[in-house]
Amino acid sequence: MDESSFASLAKEIAGLTGIDRTRNDAWGYSTKAIHGYQGRDPQTGAISYPLYQSATFAHPALGESTGFAYSRCGNPTVLELENTIAQLEGGLKALAFSSGTAAISTLLKLFGSGDCILACDDIYGGTYRLFHDVYQDRYGMEFDFVDFTDLDAVRAALAAHPNTRAFFVETPTNPMMHVFDIRALADLAHQHNAILVVDNTFLTSYFQRPFDLGADVVVYSGTKYLCGHNDVICGFTVLKDETLLQRHFTDYMSEGSALPPFEAWLMLRSLKTLSVRMDRQEQNACRICEFLKQHPHVADVYYVGDPDHPDYELSTRQCSGFGAMISFRVDTHQRLLDVLERVKIIAFAESLGGTESLITFPQVQTHGSIPDEMTDALGIDDRLLRLSVGLEDVDDLISDLSAALA
Ligand SMILES: *Cc1c(COP(=O)(O)O)cnc(C)c1O
Repeated sequence: MDESSFASLAKEIAGLTGIDRTRNDAWGYSTKAIHGYQGRDPQTGAISYPLYQSATFAHPALGESTGFAYSRCGNPTVLELENTIAQLEGGLKALAFSSGTAAISTLLKLFGSGDCILACDDIYGGTYRLFHDVYQDRYGMEFDFVDFTDLDAVRAALAAHPNTRAFFVETPTNPMMHVFDIRALADLAHQHNAILVVDNTFLTSYFQRPFDLGADVVVYSGTKYLCGHNDVICGFTVLKDETLLQRHFTDYMSEGSALPPFEAWLMLRSLKTLSVRMDRQEQNACRICEFLKQHPHVADVYYVGDPDHPDYELSTRQCSGFGAMISFRVDTHQRLLDVLERVKIIAFAESLGGTESLITFPQVQTHGSIPDEMTDALGIDDRLLRLSVGLEDVDDLISDLSAALA
């Protein structure tokens, strides 16, 4: 198969063409999330989009295609999920991966050895390990971890690395809850012919719309709020530029880390309740933030929805909500150990964004692979806990924390 027919087949399989958004563009967020892209099955009228649990698809004849050939490269259930995500994000195309890490790793294939990426210094530990231990140490890419709240520091990093091809930012950051000015960073990246990639896992497109603020690529750990039930590992990339997308799509098919159809079907189910979950989890988080702030054994509370948070004003300008992630520092390390041991409703577990509230100890768990100098400088210490506020009755969560902190 020559290059161009391969590319056109790839396009057809993935539904890169034929995304007709005119039908759904006027809908509100929840309507889009609930009714999806195609929504109900056109053949049977099934309200729940069908699960096409098939690895391969028969061709009508040589040179003809149903639009699908092999589920690593495209599957109807996965495509419905991707189109729903793209529509919610306002992107051209989304691709679904078997994890957030797989999505980020495949995205990095857009770059090569000698290219530099500026990444936020307060970053998910798994992403740090992927960047530093794999792509830098083994594949010759360069990463500089900078404080994106300080635009002069970003300018200095750009001057030091003229080979910068992209900025990679999480905002709010994990676990210190810094907020970055997405529009200012997009402008700065574009002045230097670099692209801005935003990891939108903590807020989702329901609360934060990076494309509207100038970002070029949005990535997700779909495992978190988008799934929301702590039962699927999944990830997404969302792109808005056709040229970038063509290259990324080739990498996606070649890499082979596509999301399986059953997981895609569960994710379509999850998206239907995304907006109500986000709203209620945020309400719960606001109540818990107030409780923690007045607690005598709590030294510091980091929640972007707290009016005392240094980036509160920026958050209200660039986001429509604050999410439900809270970090807090207790008075002693022993207290931290007591809390982890005593919580009954809240589970001591990694991950976040689900119906069940989870608490974690970032220094040892989620950020264990980040060097001590970096975590020390950020304030990720042996008294810092990170809480993902779930959907339980908030009074029960407060009682649980209150007993654990006593
Ligand atoms: C969890 C997480 C990831 C990694 O996603 P997986 O689905 O666990 O591979 C990336 N970024 C952020 C912000 C995360 O919280």
